[in-house]
Amino acid sequence: MAQNDIPIVEYTPLSDIPTILQDVRATFKSGLTKSLSYRKEQLKGLHNMIAENEDLFREASFLDLRKPPQELFLGETGIIKHECVEAIKNLDRWASPEKVKVSLINKFDDIHIRKDPVGVVLIIGTWNYPVNLLLIPAIGAIAAGNTVILKPSEVSPHVAKLVTELLPKYLDQRSYRIVNGAVPHTSALLDLKFDHIFYTGSGNVGKIIMAAAAKQLTPVTLELGGKSPAFVAKDGNINTIARRLAIGKFFNSGQTCIAPDYVIVERGVENELVKEMKKTLLEFYGAAPQTSPSYGRIVSKGHFHRLVQGLKNTQGEVVIGGDSQEDDLFIAPTLVLNVKPDDSLMQDEIFGPILPIMVVDSMEDGVDYVNSKDQPLALYIFSGNKKLVNHILDNTRSGSAVVNETMVQFTITTLPFGGTGPSGIGSYHGKKSFDTFSHERSTVIKSLGMERFNTVRYPPYSEKKIGWLDWLLYSKVKYAPNAANPGASKANL
Ligand code: NAD
Repeated sequence: MAQNDIPIVEYTPLSDIPTILQDVRATFKSGLTKSLSYRKEQLKGLHNMIAENEDLFREASFLDLRKPPQELFLGETGIIKHECVEAIKNLDRWASPEKVKVSLINKFDDIHIRKDPVGVVLIIGTWNYPVNLLLIPAIGAIAAGNTVILKPSEVSPHVAKLVTELLPKYLDQRSYRIVNGAVPHTSALLDLKFDHIFYTGSGNVGKIIMAAAAKQLTPVTLELGGKSPAFVAKDGNINTIARRLAIGKFFNSGQTCIAPDYVIVERGVENELVKEMKKTLLEFYGAAPQTSPSYGRIVSKGHFHRLVQGLKNTQGEVVIGGDSQEDDLFIAPTLVLNVKPDDSLMQDEIFGPILPIMVVDSMEDGVDYVNSKDQPLALYIFSGNKKLVNHILDNTRSGSAVVNETMVQFTITTLPFGGTGPSGIGSYHGKKSFDTFSHERSTVIKSLGMERFNTVRYPPYSEKKIGWLDWLLYSKVKYAPNAANPGASKANL
């Protein structure tokens, strides 16, 4: 809804939802989406939808989030176009049957893994990168030969409206449809049977999605969030670290699932970090960030109040920013020094432009702290000390890890993107998206000839046949005593 209660995007009538699903399921059953040339045409359409309407996407993203064009390009439109091109270029290879190694007994058979589409996919997007988080999963689903229902986030209605208008002009409506709406619409979709549900958003809603999917035994991919830490060791160049932290945190006003949520800094360099952050923020956004065209806004009043409340309750020291303006949904880039583990800012994911800094006596204390919490979506380490970096990597868990940078993992589409444990289930991007929406169907094609070879499998059984079977099935993989398990004693073998 707009501030004056005029709906910006028209919600799909709830009663239409089952019919929309029936339609795309009928298309899937017809086999239309199986052809690789059809899939490539659709991916071209998706690419062109972005490429030919960049201005409209700029306008819609500005209205929803005051998103600067460069952030739209880097975080959304550029990567969508790139993923489309990659999928089109590689589709023949990704979709071709994968040969596997076999035993002597299967030498003359055709044994492979088929990459079959899973069927009808539901993609539920969220609002912070509303184009990207709806369409990048769709690229994988289309490439893998599925039909798709897309549910844009109602919290970014201008983008939802634009995608709803454009999609039918570029993609085949028989195969790919949009359902708009809020919680009742998502709930109505979840009551129906899909073949895969791909959800991006909060863990709380993720649990609702997974529970609904479980009723139908529908597989899910859940792209969730969490508190992603950034370790700052004493040895690094603090000026560079400040810049790389600032771009990660204040891009999209901190409303990024992989933004560094908080900093764990080694005692002794915290004041220098604050000083360098001040310089950096002045350089990035000027003395009045509210007037900077490079700085976005909070998506809604609800999120604005949540963030301002977090700042009010903190026991830490606000050393940069802290000011906000409700009618502009503006919160200044803010640093809060000396937060303690029980601070209001250290409980839930911040998802806004507030960066708490926790000072620790050693990086080991930081590792212990991170390990006492849920596994985060991302983990950042700033240090030139390889031993320390490896120690932190070896002794923590997270969806992704980046050393001496922030956020870049998202743009490297050959890396799977996803969480672990409470930060998510499954991953996507590039080929991984194709795999996510494909079923790996183990396929054995034998001829009806050479029946004599088969007699070793048939009764009457004998010791001789066991010997033959051992040779035919397993002679290529001979057991190496103690090699795989050096700790095992001979007596156990
Ligand atoms: P959200 O989870 O509230 O909403 C996302 C979608 O869920 C919407 O389409 C909405 O209609 C639906 N939804 C909301 N409540 C529902 C309910 N009760 N029942 C059924 N459907 C419901 O979005 P949010 O929490 O504001 O998103 C922010 C979170 O998303 C953060 O935790 C962030 O880290 C995470 N996120 C993760 C990624 C990622 O790629 N891992 C990307 C962006 C955001």
